[in-house]
Amino acid sequence: YLSIFIGKGRLGMNNKFVYTPGPTNVRDNVRLERSKVTTNPDIDTDFVEFYKGTCDKVSKILNTKNETYILCGEGILGLEAACATLTEPGDRVLVINNGIFGKGFMDFVKIYGGDGVYYSSDYRKEIDTDKLNEFLQRDHDFKYATLVHCDTPTGVKNDISKICRLLNEYGILSVVDSVAGMGGEEVKGDDWKIDVLLGGSQKAFSAPPGLTTVTLSNRAKEVMESRKTSVVGFYCNLNIWKNYYIEKWFPYTMPISDIMALDLALDNILDEGIENVILRHSKVADATRKALQGFGLELFLENGFCNTVTAFKVPEYIGAVKLKNYINDKYNAIISTSLKPYDNEIIRIGHMGENARLEEISYALNLIGKALKDLGYVSEKNLLDLFNGYY
Ligand SMILES: *Cc1c(COP(=O)(O)O)cnc(C)c1O
Repeated sequence: YLSIFIGKGRLGMNNKFVYTPGPTNVRDNVRLERSKVTTNPDIDTDFVEFYKGTCDKVSKILNTKNETYILCGEGILGLEAACATLTEPGDRVLVINNGIFGKGFMDFVKIYGGDGVYYSSDYRKEIDTDKLNEFLQRDHDFKYATLVHCDTPTGVKNDISKICRLLNEYGILSVVDSVAGMGGEEVKGDDWKIDVLLGGSQKAFSAPPGLTTVTLSNRAKEVMESRKTSVVGFYCNLNIWKNYYIEKWFPYTMPISDIMALDLALDNILDEGIENVILRHSKVADATRKALQGFGLELFLENGFCNTVTAFKVPEYIGAVKLKNYINDKYNAIISTSLKPYDNEIIRIGHMGENARLEEISYALNLIGKALKDLGYVSEKNLLDLFNGYY
């Protein structure tokens, strides 16, 4: 019954059900928006106004007066552009590492000549702000620090409200990857003093992949613009955006259809109300975790659970890869394992954006519970019933 109900209107590439932590399902009105007639985004100044309006909606969702740019390229472009524009050779950069994306920032820092220093902690826990403060008391000579809001391979959430304010007290710029956070978690850019906020279209915003959002504080802009050396590269240079609105000029042709779709996806969020959207996410996330535990499974994390993805450990005698493949082959649904070294250890259920809905998550949990039992997992309980009991 469920499959008939949910399967409706899902005809697309392979007609698959996708429950991954991004890219997420795209609502029909957003998909259709991309098929509309467009204008020339380089020449028609109406598009500049439209683009700015879309950027302002991102800033609004992030509770900040800071300016947002939308760049043509997936989330990774935002991460790299922030590092490319902030880093001058020899600059010391603090790379806060309690997850795979957190660790990965080091690559960008190094590519642009920075002297990256790791602050590492247990991947099963959120960053302990007090311990980070102890570290900073001893060493705080950093131009900027990178950190991840929701580190998707494990689902760990860091308290960016505390960490960014702490960094600010030490005069360290904060660069936050909230690609998998914004739109599903509360972000208060101004109150929390976040200097660089990075997002992507394909996660909780539930627009198609291909765009990244970069929101910059005035302090970040000043530091970027007062570099002694020039930025290596053009596409990753955020300074080229400085006067785009005044000059009605874009550094390259904007992917107008993608931006129109993102604009509508942001309207979907604003129309529902950002508080309601976040509540919808936390309700789903909370019941998902409780249901998995009630089913006898172990969550990967000890604390710092995010609203947008849940990682659970697959019993060793089954293995995450086998479970993933079985669900794919038997039920035509895509769930994801994790990145190395956790690729055969955990399964991640994406419940972000349009996937953070009762009908989506209940379908996903039904499949997972059934598949686990098919593969020999023993429980008297039913995963979907457990979820319904908690939701
Ligand atoms: C998805 C995501 C990105 C963007 O990277 P892709 O893996 O290429 O989609 C960046 N940071 C985080 C935390 C993400 O979840």
